[in-house]
Amino acid sequence: MIAKPYVAIDGPAGAGKSTVARTLAKKLGFIYIDTGAMYRAVTLMALREGIDLQDQDALSQLARAVSIELLPDQNGGLRVLLNGDDVSEDIRSQQVSQNVSLVAMAPGVRKRLVELQRAMAARGGVVMEGRDIGTVVLPEAPVKIFLTASYQERARRRREELAVKGDIIAQEQMEKEIMIRDQLDSTRAADPLTQAADAVPIDSTSFSVNEVVDLIMARVTAEEERS
Ligand code: C5P
Repeated sequence: MIAKPYVAIDGPAGAGKSTVARTLAKKLGFIYIDTGAMYRAVTLMALREGIDLQDQDALSQLARAVSIELLPDQNGGLRVLLNGDDVSEDIRSQQVSQNVSLVAMAPGVRKRLVELQRAMAARGGVVMEGRDIGTVVLPEAPVKIFLTASYQERARRRREELAVKGDIIAQEQMEKEIMIRDQLDSTRAADPLTQAADAVPIDSTSFSVNEVVDLIMARVTAEEERS
């Protein structure tokens, strides 16, 4: 029996998972774990090493050899360390975003990262976000959320995030990129993006972050009272 529940938040790119999960973890005093950051870190390493991204064996070998750490920062976010180096900014580049779904298809990469994710969550009191948390990583999580939004809204949010860093991307291009990532993530053979049977779907298209957080908080509180 774990002392505090796990909260699993899954959903497609740009649905608002990170902001919601980070805010929720802060409110609950839980640990926030962004599993997408881990797939991004392996992708960055593979690109830097010039590994052929179709070579799943080479990718798996790389994933087994790298060290990935997620450290909480002062703003409730995470610093991502790859072999000890802070790559928090580098993993958000367009080049990584455009290649990460290919790397995430490799079963050996997934196996290694799922092991690390389960170890990070072992003591409970965790908000973990990704694509396969409720289905594969923490199937026993008592609170599972499947967060979606229209692809136009998701593209708009991603463009806004990138614009803050000075990356200006056309809406049309971003919608296309998001559709490609959705397609790859939900049709891959290993652990595809799919809603767990017992997950609560939330469409965040016309909700604010705080409204979504309040909806999930109510579920967590009910769960804590029940157990
Ligand atoms: O969440 P984020 O958009 O940063 O995730 C980047 C990519 O990592 C996703 O598009 C997906 O290909 C992969 N991913 C995954 N399983 C997870 C989290 C992310 O396959 N649990």
